[in-house]
Formats: sequence, structure tokens, C-alpha cells
Amino acid sequence: MTTLPGSFGAYGGRYVAETLMFALDELEAGARDILRTDEFQRTLGGLLRDYVGRPTALTPAPRLARALDPDGHTLGEVWLKREDLCHTGAHKINNALGQVLLAKRMGKTRVIAETGAGQHGVATATAAALLDLPCEVFMGALDVERQAPNVARMRLLGARVVPVETGSRTLKDAMNEALRDWVTNVASTAYCVGSAAGPHPYPTLVAELQRVIGDEARAQVMGATGALPDAVVACVGGGSNAIGIMRAFLDDDVSLYGVEAAGEGLSTERHAATLTRGRVGVLHGARSYVLCDDDGQIEEAHSISAGLDYPGVGPEHAHLKDTGRVTYLTATDREAVEAVDLVARRVGILVALETAHAFARVADVGRREAARRGRPASVLVCLSGRGDKDLGSIEAWRAAHGGGAR
Ligand SMILES: *Cc1c(COP(=O)(O)O)cnc(C)c1O
Repeated sequence: MTTLPGSFGAYGGRYVAETLMFALDELEAGARDILRTDEFQRTLGGLLRDYVGRPTALTPAPRLARALDPDGHTLGEVWLKREDLCHTGAHKINNALGQVLLAKRMGKTRVIAETGAGQHGVATATAAALLDLPCEVFMGALDVERQAPNVARMRLLGARVVPVETGSRTLKDAMNEALRDWVTNVASTAYCVGSAAGPHPYPTLVAELQRVIGDEARAQVMGATGALPDAVVACVGGGSNAIGIMRAFLDDDVSLYGVEAAGEGLSTERHAATLTRGRVGVLHGARSYVLCDDDGQIEEAHSISAGLDYPGVGPEHAHLKDTGRVTYLTATDREAVEAVDLVARRVGILVALETAHAFARVADVGRREAARRGRPASVLVCLSGRGDKDLGSIEAWRAAHGGGAR
């Protein structure tokens, strides 16, 4: 095991087997020598425009602002960056398309990915179909059973879904199996990682590919209001939509808030609040905050939203937490379900359960910012994805916990 550059403060690096060092070095060189060329950026920009549907809209949400702050003392404007309008319904396609295009340019003839709920698997299968590369997606056998619609989508898109029968038969086992495949087939194969996590260079590569969210939103808010927003809010699973919107504002006087999943509550141990409640450790090839017990064993995360149900978090967020540049809050399963209802009724958008965690804290963010600035705050929310995929989860949650639609 070796650590190499690619650090964010005390976090990040590469904690992987020696056999993967060559592949990670090769990817780092590809990111440096190919990704940043004008030709690559032009090609990717064209795909993002003509296929994904970028730039995505920036939507004002005045009725939501008034619902969260009836007197208008703390919340001025609320702006929504609409990643739900991307092809396939979430921000994940920005990253998958970039990584698969890079794989092609690097001469790879096969793409692999791991997936938990299947969202990243669908995004990768989509990009692989468009760009004509065979795709294999490793997925825990339990998740294959639980996420049948996404398994069907991936297969329709021409991907081979490989059920992983080891361990708990979930995401972490799928990741181990994907890494094992990559070690074996490293010359021909690109491994497409789904969030701003994993060993260097993935956290940097994914953040660069998702940065388009923040770059667009910054220009759109400036164009609409003539000023920057006071605060930006995004949900945090591995951290890719959050870092994608935040990177454009890191040097500005804009407060940044990430919202983690508090699941059934922070006191219950059934949550996924890695930054809020975790400890420093190593998971999936990088040093960051993780959920683990006293012996360092990784614990299962829990969240109503499959996309936040991850016991790790990208290393850049760990650093941004320690430096205090980003404030990390949490929202429970119940608060997320309530936020889905509220946004549906006040804006007419069914947001993903992941995204709903960010909405659950918008009123608090408004109060904090208004106190800091002495006037109502304008808040930009990253609407990371649409909620059609979650209707079953919400119904099941209501059946178990009560809390019907108002
Ligand atoms: C996967 C997913 C997330 C969480 O992943 P990040 O890498 O933290 O962005 C958030 N929202 C949606 C809609 C997702 O599909």
C-alpha cells in the first residue's frame, strides 16, 4: 500500500494495491494530457449540449421561499439549478460521459463500473451505448434484487450486469469486485467511478467533470440578479453534485452548505452522516471520513435515499469540513419525505430523495445567512435529480412510518 500526491489537506491519496498504481498513473496522465485539451473540451461540450441538454435551467422558486419563510425576513430568493433536466434525470451523466469519452481517447476498449442503487450504472451504460464501448456493471446481488427497474434499464442499454455474491452483496462488495476486474484487465479497461471519491485521480477528475454545474449556475444567477447568491446548498453522498456546484464559488463570499443523510436520526446509528458522525479512516482507496466501529470496521450506512446510503465521502469534502469553508448539516428520512412533498406542491417538481435532503435545510440556511448578513438571503439549491425513481421508496416509507401527503 502506498500514498501518493492527490491530497486535500490530510485526506485523499491512493491506498490501493501496487498493481493498480500503473492504471491510476495512466488515468492521471490522461486527465492531464487529454481531458484539458481544447479538442476534448469541445467534443465533450458538444455532447453535453446536444445529448445531455446543457446548460440546464436555473429556476426561481418564490412560492417555496414564502412557504419556508412566510414573513420574508430571512429568505429572499431561492434559485434551483435543474440537474433533474439532464438526460437520464440527474447530474451523474455529466461525469459518466466525460469518463467514457476519456476512456475512448485513451484507447480503452471496455468500460466497467460499480453501482449501488443502479443510478451510476445506468449513467455509465448510457454513455457507453452512445460512444460504442462494451460496458459491464458490477452490482451486489442483493441490490440486483432490490433495484430491478435500473437493472432492466442497464440491460436494455446493452450493458452486462454482473451480480456480486460476496460479503453483504451490496455496494462495497461490488466496488471490490470492480477493482479486482480492473487489476486483471487493466490494459484494455477503464473503470468509471461514480462520485468524487476513490483513489487519486478520481476525486479531482470527477470534480472537474461536475464543475459545469457550478460554472453554469454562477453565470446564470449573476445574469438574473446581477449578484452572487449568498449561500449554496447541496446534498452529499459521495459528494459529486455538491463539489460540482461548490467549486465555482470557493473563492467568493458565498456560504457553502452540504447536507448529509441523518437516516432515522443521528442518535440511532442508522444514518449515513459520514462527515458529521464519522471518523478518519480509509475506504475505497482514499483517506477521508468513514463510518466505522472502534476497531475500524466499516459500518453499514442507512438512508431512505439509495444515493446517499454510503459509509464514506469524497476526500475534498473532508478537507473543506476541517477548514470550515463548507458547513455540513444533516436531514432525516422523515424530513426528506416532507421536503419532497413541499417542493412538489410549491414548485411542481418531483425531486429525488437525495436532493430532498438539501431542500430540508433551506429554511435553516436562510436563517443563518440572514443573521450573518443582516438582510434576507438568496439561496442557490443544487437540484441534483428527479424523483420518479423514488415513488416506490416514498410509498413504502409512508406505509411503515406514517406521514401521508398533505
Ligand atoms: C447519486 C445521487 C446523489 C449522490 O451522489 P453525489 O456524488 O453525492 O452527488 C445525489 N442526488 C442524486 C439525484 C443522485 O442520483
